Amino acid sequence: MIDTHCHLNDSQFDNDLDRVINNFFLSGGSAMICVGADFQSSMKAKIIAESNDNIYYTVGVHPDDCDKFDQSELEDLIITKSDKLVAIGEIGLDYFHNKSNKAKQIEVFVSQINLAIKYNLPIVVHCRDAYQDVYNILKEYSPLKIGVVMHCYSGSLEFASQLIKLGVKLSFTGSVTFNNAIKVKEVAKNIPLDTFFFETDAPYLTPEPNRGKRNEPKNVFDTAKFVANLRAIDAQKLIEITDENAKKFFNIKAF
Ligand SMILES: [Zn+2]
Repeated sequence: MIDTHCHLNDSQFDNDLDRVINNFFLSGGSAMICVGADFQSSMKAKIIAESNDNIYYTVGVHPDDCDKFDQSELEDLIITKSDKLVAIGEIGLDYFHNKSNKAKQIEVFVSQINLAIKYNLPIVVHCRDAYQDVYNILKEYSPLKIGVVMHCYSGSLEFASQLIKLGVKLSFTGSVTFNNAIKVKEVAKNIPLDTFFFETDAPYLTPEPNRGKRNEPKNVFDTAKFVANLRAIDAQKLIEITDENAKKFFNIKAF
């Protein structure tokens, strides 16, 4: 199974990264995508991907860090990519943390969408309390020339349907297993099988039954099993389908 979004580059993994990676593959995991959130973590993601089989990476600047965005710095990192670069991300809008003003966040988001189009890479979108603005921006690019995934989807089913109409994919983290996550359970239960896949967002958002502990990629199986149960479908079957969705989306050929 693929963990399509994890932060192996987070300092919480500095002391036992090799063990965490091994745990994932020993649990039956097949590939991981290590996601960048600023220039430093994107560099680190690249190094981790290049030194491990079946680990891929993304580069991008998260809305919380958009005051540090430097277009040419990021573009250099794209130009000097290895063949394991699979997306630009995570990028987007965060009106919950609101670390910089909306106009700046939108400017940096749009710049990175344009870079993704220029280099023909899909984007991994972080969106918090900003669904309408993200939707409006994506709609301007419709029909979408690149893949777009809403990472850690937590909006309504109605919004999910609108995004899916644009061709956007959704990915679910362990947050779907939380007791109070009623809306996102409804989404995970009802959207078409070819429109979503799974991620951990480790070290954050640990799924039940380990909620509260540090998350790691091997826990992606817990989220998939939970959603399989919601949809009354065999877990192995669901994992096969969502892995195919992810491989197609990120253009991962083999592992
Ligand atoms: Zn993330």
